[in-house]
Amino acid sequence: MDDIPEAIRETAPSKSSSQLPLVTIVGGVLGVGAIALLSSLFFSRPAAKSTQGTSSPPEKTETIVKAETLNNSASTRSATDNKNSNQIEKSITPEDLLGHLPYEEVARSELTSISADGRIKLHHAAAEKFKQMQAAAIADGVLLTPLSAFRSVSEQDYLFFRIKEQRVQGAAKRAEVSAPPGYSEHHTGYAIDIGDGKVPSANVNVKFENTAAFRWLQDNAARYSFELSFPRNNPQGISYEPWHWRYVGDRHSLETFYKARNLKKQN
Ligand SMILES: [Zn+2]
Repeated sequence: MDDIPEAIRETAPSKSSSQLPLVTIVGGVLGVGAIALLSSLFFSRPAAKSTQGTSSPPEKTETIVKAETLNNSASTRSATDNKNSNQIEKSITPEDLLGHLPYEEVARSELTSISADGRIKLHHAAAEKFKQMQAAAIADGVLLTPLSAFRSVSEQDYLFFRIKEQRVQGAAKRAEVSAPPGYSEHHTGYAIDIGDGKVPSANVNVKFENTAAFRWLQDNAARYSFELSFPRNNPQGISYEPWHWRYVGDRHSLETFYKARNLKKQN
């Protein structure tokens, strides 16, 4: 998910009150049962920790077992990240996540710069493929411009909570256009927001789908193992983001994205 700093945007996406019914519809679709299950997943986290080393409660559902597995792997994060996670649990209720999935922050040593100023970084494998893809696009007269790639949990924390406050948005409304910290694909180092260097006014905007860069990506990105994360009507219910692509060209990146997706499907 996106919502990169305003400085990068040429045009902030227009927000209209017509988006409000979506919140209602998504909330309705989730249903009481789903919310109850989500609640059990989230609030089972402290209980799972406290019962480690003792007998497990009987008749755990497969969903909950898998959720605990994911939570346990998340516990290998740094103390800072765990602190962030605890803050998230207090701040975000399950229904506020609106389809966002949990992701761990990649180690800095796994990142390679893909921009001239060195500030935009991707996971090594994704960076290599992105550079190849960018060169192939240039040969076709298309400029694929990286706008934002790896983002830390603390950077996402600012994007979500501080801008939410500045815009006087509720968490659910905010979650339509920005992932809560700990839930952005950008934490993985495999996701990248791409612009058309010839049409900066379409940066991080649905208008990007009308650019030569987007058409080129549609035709060619799969050759480099990049795919659109949030196409129209995606099953996660997240806003369409034609500029946000993710690398799925090796086992680790596939596991990163599809493990989270399978967990969500069972909800
Ligand atoms: Zn993005």
